[in-house]
Amino acid sequence: MKAVLKKEKGVGFVIEDIPTPSIGDDEILVKVEVASICGTDVHIYEWNDWAQNRIKPPIVVGHEFAGVVVEKGREVKRINVGDFVSAETHIYCNHCDMCLMNHREVCRNLKILGVDIDGAFAEYVKIPERVAWVNPKEIPHKFASIQEPLGNAVDTVLAEDISGKTVLITGAGPIGLLAIAVLRVFGATKIIASDLSNYHLEIAKKVGADVVVNPLEQNIHDVVLAETHGLGVDVSLEMSGSKSALRDALKLTKYLGRVSLLGLFDKSVDVDLTNDVIFKKLRIYGITGRRIFETWEIVSSLLSSKRLDVSPIITHEFKLEEVDKGIKLMKSHQSGKILLYP
Ligand SMILES: [Zn+2]
Ligand SMILES: [Zn+2]
Repeated sequence: MKAVLKKEKGVGFVIEDIPTPSIGDDEILVKVEVASICGTDVHIYEWNDWAQNRIKPPIVVGHEFAGVVVEKGREVKRINVGDFVSAETHIYCNHCDMCLMNHREVCRNLKILGVDIDGAFAEYVKIPERVAWVNPKEIPHKFASIQEPLGNAVDTVLAEDISGKTVLITGAGPIGLLAIAVLRVFGATKIIASDLSNYHLEIAKKVGADVVVNPLEQNIHDVVLAETHGLGVDVSLEMSGSKSALRDALKLTKYLGRVSLLGLFDKSVDVDLTNDVIFKKLRIYGITGRRIFETWEIVSSLLSSKRLDVSPIITHEFKLEEVDKGIKLMKSHQSGKILLYP
């Protein structure tokens, strides 16, 4: 089968013919119909510090996908050949303390598809049955691969009730854009989005941001305070992993407000906890992965009900072989979500 590989250490991917995976007793083989590029794939491509420490080439990359089950192992009961599935990409162990407490998103023995084991940028991918999510029939197939990042967005937005709240979202890349669309559906009343890419901000407006701000062109403090009667927002969602965005988010969240953090920071960050968090009694949530499978239920029904329109966020669709083109677009911040078809 055709597959996109991180073949060796260093920058880039290689497209190669490799044997189709053979499955174990508790696994299923899926013919990939659509996949999507994630920031993680870009990091693996670029071979950044994180990738150098984590990735052991050769490995098939890619983790966001949807496709049809073509084969199942002897012990597989819940999933059938012919099912249209997506996958929880965090392969949890099911026996550590976190898994036993139904917090599989922070499983201590987590393996990630396309990071620790062969992934989905290929004609076929094998996954354990336990991480397969059977998609509702009504779901547009084209959108089925983006449920995984959409789940990140949903958990970031819904760490607490969001209805009637004013919200600042720092970072309007693909997941930030998904979060804006989710905020709209769940009833946020004013959505202010910041990003350094005007391309991202144009899409942010299309999916429901009321105000957009590019901190390279405008003072974000002035904009947010002007939009919130000088008080700041009820909720901030940090999706960029930028230190200055985090500091802005903390400063611009009003007293008794909530901050959800999804963006990952390269290094430790200095923040004024005393003034910006403690004296304001903020609540801060770290968000990682998705609730398995509570979030999947929400995400699937948002898409199958057509209540959430993600089409403005999908900006490019390429053949799998054109993955390099997609990665370069992502790096230039001139894209939303990019789909790949094997
Ligand atoms: Zn992803
Ligand atoms: Zn576990």
